[in-house]
Parts: sequence; C-alpha cells; structure tokens
Amino acid sequence: MKDIILTGDRPTGNLHLGHYIGSLKKRIELQDEGNYEKYYVMIADTQALTDNAQNVDKVKNNIIQVAIDYISAGIDPSKVKIFIQSMVSPLHEFTSYFMNLVTLSRLQRNPTIKEEIKQRGFETSLPIGFINYPISQAADILAFGTTIAPVGGDQLPMFEQAREIVQSFNNTYQPSEEIFVMPKAIVSENKAFQRLPGLDGKLKMSKSAGNSIYLCDDTETVKEKVMKAYTDANHIKVTDPGQIEGNVVFTYLDAFSKPAHFAMFLPEYKNLEELKNHYRRGGLGDVKVKKFLINVLEDFLSPIREKRKQCLNHIDDIYNMLFENSRQASIDANARLEKMKDAMGLNYKKFLK
Ligand code: ATP
Ligand code: MG
Repeated sequence: MKDIILTGDRPTGNLHLGHYIGSLKKRIELQDEGNYEKYYVMIADTQALTDNAQNVDKVKNNIIQVAIDYISAGIDPSKVKIFIQSMVSPLHEFTSYFMNLVTLSRLQRNPTIKEEIKQRGFETSLPIGFINYPISQAADILAFGTTIAPVGGDQLPMFEQAREIVQSFNNTYQPSEEIFVMPKAIVSENKAFQRLPGLDGKLKMSKSAGNSIYLCDDTETVKEKVMKAYTDANHIKVTDPGQIEGNVVFTYLDAFSKPAHFAMFLPEYKNLEELKNHYRRGGLGDVKVKKFLINVLEDFLSPIREKRKQCLNHIDDIYNMLFENSRQASIDANARLEKMKDAMGLNYKKFLK
C-alpha cells in the first residue's frame, strides 16, 4: 500500500529554519521519492485561531506567506496538494464527534499543550479551542487516511492522541470495515533537529517566541540575527575553551553546513569536526564561527529568496490553486465522514421507505 501523507503549518508567521530542518526537508524528500498515493499539506488557519482569535488579519495574511514559503523552499504544487484548513468543513464535523472520545484530563496531560499554555500565559484564561486543538488535529490527520507525516518532535503527542482516538472509535462503534488508519509521525533522527533551538538558545525556534531566522529574511537581517545568537556564556576570551552542546551556532552548522562550504568559505578547516575541536580546545573566537555560519546560511537561503521573488508575481494563481485544492480535499474528507457517520449509526436516511 502506498502512503497517504499529510502535514501542515499554522499561518502565524513566515516559516523559519526550524520548519525546514524539522519537517520541510523531509517533506521535499518524500515528494521527490514519489512513493505515495496522495500528498497533502495543510495551512492550519483554524488551528492558528485557537490562540489568535483577536488576530484574524494576522492569520489571514499569513496564509499566502506560508504558501509562498513552501513553494520557495521546494514544495512542488503539481505533486502536493496545499490547501486551507478552514475551507474544508468536514474537518469540523470529525472534530465534534471525536471530542466525545477524549477526556479533558487527557488533553491536560499532553506535554506539548502543557508547555504552550505556559508560553502563552493561558494558565488562567485558557480558550477551550486551544486545549481542544489536539483533537482537531487528529481530525485533520484521520480524515484523509494519513499513514505518515513528517513533523517536528513537538507533534509526537498529537499523533499519540490521534491513534488513541482511532482505538476509542473502534472500541465504541465497532465498525464493520476499517475507517481510520493508524497514523505515524516521521521525525528527524537527529534529536536537535526535531526541536531546533531559537537564537536565544532557550526555547525551540518558533514564530510565537520571536527567536527565529526566517526563510524570507534578507542578508542584513540574517547577519544581525546570527551576530546576536547565543553561543556559550563561559566562552568569554578567544583563548577560553568553548562548549559545543547547547551552542546554537554549532547546532545550526550541524543542520545546514555541507563539507563543500569549508573549501568555499573557511579553507583552513577540513570539516565541521575540526572546527568543533578547535573551539573546544580554545583559541577560536565566536565571531569567526558566526561569519562562517552567515555564509552557510546565505548559500542555503539565496535560491529560496529568488524563488520567492518569482512567486510574488503569481499571487492570484497561488490563491486559485489553494481554493481548488481545498475543494478537492473537502470531497476526500467528506467520503470518509459519511463512512464514519454510517458506522456510528448516524444514517437517518435509512428511515425513508
Ligand atoms: P507557532 O509558534 O505559531 O506554534 P511554530 O513556529 O511552532 O509556530 P508550527 O506551525 O506550530 O510552527 O509548526 C509546524 C511544523 O513545524 C510542525 O511539524 C512542527 O513540529 C515543526 N516545527 C516548528 N518549529 C520547529 C523547530 N524549532 N524545530 C523542528 N521542527 C519545528
Ligand atoms: Mg507550534
């Protein structure tokens, strides 16, 4: 059986390096391997509203931004159906029925939700929609028969929740045929890439935390951000020995540098290992490493910026593509919704003689 792939992002801002290394890179690999039956990428505007109810304009305006980021980074709209969550209304129906299969205490135990509640200061003013979003996300995943999803590490608890819903649905309604498939999250083997740290070195890189390098950042912005990035608080003088662990500049080099970059930008070192060893020993200053990182990121980001410029001339085409894909996704989701309602006994048309 070929895979059905679904992933998505919240349109709360432009996509950043964390999105690329945690999910987009794998999405592009899967797209290019071509071994799938269907491939969806969802712009999760409904989910973004769960902590942005007063910020509809921000969410609305970022839909096209995220779509442009996808295409610029290498998602091919002729292979992947990018759609808008709120335009696929069956997803809301799935959510309603799934809400009866999950307890509040289960949602409160979700570690990603716990952390996000703290980060957003929602401890005493938690929107019901926000704590409910793992259920609505399960609806997105299950509605399309998703088998695999390339995501960052913070999404693992969401897939656990979705699988529990499948189990609970099957136990409760005993469907005579399989309706929901058990979905699997695919995360990077490198733990640091599952949760790329932000420039502050504390939280994960995230649109909401203001600690990101965006795929659309210009050269000057990237330079400024890298120069302020957290390295090692105890590496004060050049001669001091330095620490690699928790040093975001080295984490970003792990993620984005290629062996060829050394010959191009830093020929006195053969590879990253040599650079790390020198830093550990002492005698290598942060500025030199940061300048190298700036070159590495420029090499990675320049073609993305070029593609973005081209996209800006095709905004209407991109919107039309999103609308048409959302229409098709609604048809797909509706087919499974009908099956689900039938299995639940919500098939009142049977009463007609
Ligand atoms: P927000 O702050 O609005 O939640 P975000 O930056 O966390 O935004 P999302 O849209 O929530 O981004 O995440 C989309 C996808 O990107 C998910 O699969 C998520 O796991 C992944 N992702 C986000 N940030 C990172 C990161 N720093 N490292 C690895 N993967 C990430
Ligand atoms: Mg997030």
